[in-house]
Amino acid sequence: MSTAPVTASIARLRKEFGPSLTIVGHHYQNDAVIQHTDLRGDSLELARKVAQATSEHIVFCGVFFMAESAALLARPGQKVYLPELSADCSMALMSPAPTVEEVLQRLNSTGRKVVPLAYVNSELAVKTVVGAYGGAVCTSANATAMMRWAREQGDAVLFLPDKNLGANTADILGIGEDKRHRLDIRGRGTRVDLAAADKAELLLWPGECCVHTRFTVEMIEDMRATHPGALVVVHPESPPAIVKASDAAGSTSFIIRYVENAPAGSTVVVGTEINLVQRLAKEHAGRVTVLPLRVSECVNMAKVTEERLEETLLEIRAGN
Ligand code: 13P
Ligand code: SF4
Repeated sequence: MSTAPVTASIARLRKEFGPSLTIVGHHYQNDAVIQHTDLRGDSLELARKVAQATSEHIVFCGVFFMAESAALLARPGQKVYLPELSADCSMALMSPAPTVEEVLQRLNSTGRKVVPLAYVNSELAVKTVVGAYGGAVCTSANATAMMRWAREQGDAVLFLPDKNLGANTADILGIGEDKRHRLDIRGRGTRVDLAAADKAELLLWPGECCVHTRFTVEMIEDMRATHPGALVVVHPESPPAIVKASDAAGSTSFIIRYVENAPAGSTVVVGTEINLVQRLAKEHAGRVTVLPLRVSECVNMAKVTEERLEETLLEIRAGN
């Protein structure tokens, strides 16, 4: 672990703050930042853990929607900080709230009840619209249970913004391709094909995560050929063909548990953000060989650095 002055400075600041500070980090944060965290987890775990935190200051090392959710769950008087405000999730930006509202209004105008299910990777304004239409929010860890629930609430489900998580969840629930419709959201939602949408049980927003759509089936085939017997685990933001070609798929915490439970001497190929893959490779070195399906970095997660964390703590101490 780094012994740079910034590392020592953060350690000192954490001591100074004592129990009034909680530093939270998503699994995609780099090691330099992760070493300073009190709590780590996938999106669902972090939402639950933050809701339990009692400190006055919560510094969230992750992307915007995560800190925004934490701020929503915070207790009165608690303050939530994101060390780098421009750390936005590029997928979350693919479903602007006014477009979501326009689409939902159109989909429901035919008399059907279309229930929205928003992936947590979306802005708060989207979640507000989703709530107004009787929908809910899910993460990759509970998407299956939540889609099952949403199907019981109306005639069809609108899953947004991740078309891949939506399709992978539909595969688990046995919702056939013929019952799905990929929405055309161009023209700020004014071009939705209502005739096609009306026939579908699942409407998929055309968003995706650039970190996970870089993976291809050929990469999995190459890894299996080069490392016979290797297990392949991916995040369900990967396209359905990748999930089908893998041995397992699940949230970042699922991936961590999968590697922990892999037999000694095995090789596990992991298809997700590189910081998590590299950490797993280090933590399990000598027991399990962990290899990235390919190096794929989330540039937004990477905007939170040790330096930005230190600056944030100094600003909080200064009362800014
Ligand atoms: P998890 O909820 O699995 O941690 O995923 C969050 C995310 O942004 C993955 O790209
Ligand atoms: Fe968003 Fe993808 Fe980065 Fe996750 S990995 S925060 S979905 S851009």
